[in-house]
Amino acid sequence: MDITGSTTGQLLDAMQNGTVSAVEVTQAYLNEISAHGETVGAFLSVDSEGSLTQAAEVDRKRSSGESLGKLAGLPVAVKDNICTKGLATTCASRMLENFVPPYDAHVTTQLQNADAIIIGKANLDEFAMGSSTENSALQVTRNPWNIDHAPGGSSGGSAAAVGARLASMGIGSDTGGSIRQPASFCGVVGMKPTYGRVSRYGLVAFASSLDQIGPFATDVTGTARLLESIAGYDVRDSTSVDRPVPGYSATVEQPLENLRVGVVSEFFGEGIDSDVDASIRAAIDVYRSLGAEVSEVSLPHTRYAVATYYLIACSEASSNLARYDGVHYGRRAEQFENMIDMYAASRAEGFGAEVKRRIMLGVFALSEGYSDQYYLKGLKVRRLIRNDFDAAFENVDVLAGPTCPTPAFKIGELVDDPLQMYLSDICTISANLAGIPGVSVPAGFSSNGLPIGLQLLAGPFEEEKLLRAARMFERETVWHTKRPSFS
Ligand code: GLN
Repeated sequence: MDITGSTTGQLLDAMQNGTVSAVEVTQAYLNEISAHGETVGAFLSVDSEGSLTQAAEVDRKRSSGESLGKLAGLPVAVKDNICTKGLATTCASRMLENFVPPYDAHVTTQLQNADAIIIGKANLDEFAMGSSTENSALQVTRNPWNIDHAPGGSSGGSAAAVGARLASMGIGSDTGGSIRQPASFCGVVGMKPTYGRVSRYGLVAFASSLDQIGPFATDVTGTARLLESIAGYDVRDSTSVDRPVPGYSATVEQPLENLRVGVVSEFFGEGIDSDVDASIRAAIDVYRSLGAEVSEVSLPHTRYAVATYYLIACSEASSNLARYDGVHYGRRAEQFENMIDMYAASRAEGFGAEVKRRIMLGVFALSEGYSDQYYLKGLKVRRLIRNDFDAAFENVDVLAGPTCPTPAFKIGELVDDPLQMYLSDICTISANLAGIPGVSVPAGFSSNGLPIGLQLLAGPFEEEKLLRAARMFERETVWHTKRPSFS
């Protein structure tokens, strides 16, 4: 059996009927990591021993007839800003390079309860700030489809791991597109759930009102399965919402009747790559051919989304990152003159350039005399952006467009141009500001062989509808079955 070429569903079936054991599955992924892990650079740490022990435990439970969780024996790559007890959680920052959490994130516990195998911790942009994983202070991650290109970010390690088949599934966090954009760049499915759907307990905070944890898999069904295992109420996150979690994987095969798809005109604006434009228009034709009613929809405040996002996200980041002072948390400088100097030197050494840039922007946006003009104004525009979505969802079930205006850019191409990098989030950011769910599904390739993602968005807590709509498209297309040729 081609273990690493299988979907989560195929692996679960094979383990269930005894064709392969969980240990064999985990070992197959560990072998792939030995062969290609260094080239891709997806993992900051691989827990070979721990994952084989977990897998052996799954096999033991199965043979003794004990009940098993929904993800039993499936190896998952977890973004390294999600706490794993006893396993380093670095946020790809010098600041937390040696941090070993004394507790598990809610999501980590949920994965364990589902009998998933946490195979390793995946690289990211430092503190999840970025769109290419190039802001990682610890390692370069490469796009499995072309190693000269970036995997996207900030969950680039998780996306590249799943794209390269170094893990069966991945967990990321999405504050402004950090699951959907790398999913699109690496040719996998990635979903940002509704704000409040998945507990943020144990996720190292970047921008708390926007951060949301979500799943990656090679197909929509795997994504649905992973989401249903991590979603749900948790008292330890005050923004976690107490609503039942639908069985997403049970309904994902059911096509939606009378589906109304809204094509967001603003997402096809200036700067869209012609291959992306063609693939997404072809994807929308697939919905037409399935009988969906397709209409053009305008979200007029989209033009303010990037500016609004960077004001709000940086403001929150400046507050969240104040805790890393070398005393409460994080690295402490060795050389300093006095206490103030100790804080300054620790932060100067611990944070990279992008993190510093954002802290400074945020401190400015929140400062006395300016906060009304910047932070408060940002919050008001945020409401207008949400209103655009509310109005759109009165007439359509899902919104569609590209996940990113371009396929994966080259490593190094945008690092010196932060504004251009920020603009690559133009199609994903507004969903975070509005708190709504979004998914990226493989929808084609550029002329130079890089994946292109279709983004679908739905109203709050409509993940079930979103996944079913995504599956309708996936069933008609072959894009998700393609694998990068290096493997
Ligand atoms: N690229 C965006 C940023 O740099 C989004 C990051 C994210 O979603 N974590 O802020």
